[in-house]
Amino acid sequence: MGFIKQTFTGIECDNCKEQFRESEENAFFFDEDNANEAVTDEEWHIDNNKHYCDKCHSIDDNDITVINHERFKSN
Ligand SMILES: [Zn+2]
Repeated sequence: MGFIKQTFTGIECDNCKEQFRESEENAFFFDEDNANEAVTDEEWHIDNNKHYCDKCHSIDDNDITVINHERFKSN
């Protein structure tokens, strides 16, 4: 039996570094498009290739996305 390996894509929040999980078992996607689609379905915000989880951003009264820098964690 031959093994074929495939690289999967996961997404972490660029602010708090929390990894996106679609469910307990599933945190990886076939490619970046799939991953982006999954996180935007869950209220994540994507800006300039940066990803912000639902807890790290909010929309203000003027429809402007505000990033919550209090949750920021550096590597
Ligand atoms: Zn976050």
